[in-house]
Amino acid sequence: MTSTPEGRLRLTLLGGFLGSGKTTWLRHQLHEKAFGRVHVIVNEAADVPVDDALLGAADHMTLLAGGCVCCKGQQDLLNVLLDLCDDRSGLADRSTRIENIVLETSGLADPAAILQLIQSHPILVRQIVVTQTIVIVDAVHAKAQLQQEALGRRQIEAADRLILTKTDSATAQDTAQLCASLEAIAPGAIQTAAIFGSPLVLQESAPDVLPFAMPDLSDSDMHPIIACQLNLGDKPDWTAFTVWLSALLHARGDQIVRVKGVVGTPAGRLLLQTVRRTVQSPEILPDTVTPVESDNTIAVIGRGFTQDQLSDSLAHFSA
Ligand SMILES: [Zn+2]
Repeated sequence: MTSTPEGRLRLTLLGGFLGSGKTTWLRHQLHEKAFGRVHVIVNEAADVPVDDALLGAADHMTLLAGGCVCCKGQQDLLNVLLDLCDDRSGLADRSTRIENIVLETSGLADPAAILQLIQSHPILVRQIVVTQTIVIVDAVHAKAQLQQEALGRRQIEAADRLILTKTDSATAQDTAQLCASLEAIAPGAIQTAAIFGSPLVLQESAPDVLPFAMPDLSDSDMHPIIACQLNLGDKPDWTAFTVWLSALLHARGDQIVRVKGVVGTPAGRLLLQTVRRTVQSPEILPDTVTPVESDNTIAVIGRGFTQDQLSDSLAHFSA
């Protein structure tokens, strides 16, 4: 085992709020082989893994579902990282060793907590160097997240590099104000933009653009964000489900942070994703992506409701 900094595994933390576009960005980087010989760890707070189905380009991947690794799933992450270090030191041929780890965090994760977890571990700290924390920022929804979610702000604070997505759906003025606000939260972070993973030049913002107002937030005065699972059965009624979902987002869009899952329909397996009230146009998954157990199970992430309330409400619509 080596403990020199040069011999350590390099780890990139990839963070960002729910629905910011982390997986899309990462998928593109993997396709471009931007991380060399890489092992990707994908963490999802919900039990419904979806992101791994989208990341077919990674040769080596571990999925950690059902617990955010910054809090509940810490031990699972430590076990995976220790195994990776062991496997690597057991390989005599250096040319086949992995060089990088990319950890795509759950949208509920505080990257700083993961950094601290790795750096305070007596073995990992000698084996792994966290080289950068990249945080993906949704240019359309970031303002609301930063004004309302303490977590959204903590993610930005932890970033070395901020990558804005969806700037093509935001006005130049809003983007400039967002950049000024990000600069105020994370003054040292490099700001760039990307569309579907490809880099995009960000306009140099004028010095007179001021950050938007950011009220004091503390986590304690808000309901915690929870992740619920809804099973739609073997042959889901797509129409009834979409009617229910529209009604839910209409009534509770501010409380539903994210809805995500794969639903079998006559047209194929649809990847369904929403961010707040925005429903992203459903994507039909290619045949190469094999059906998984979690098909027809939808993750609903948000606050101010319980699993039972959601299940009852859906049952009412499907009846
Ligand atoms: Zn967490």
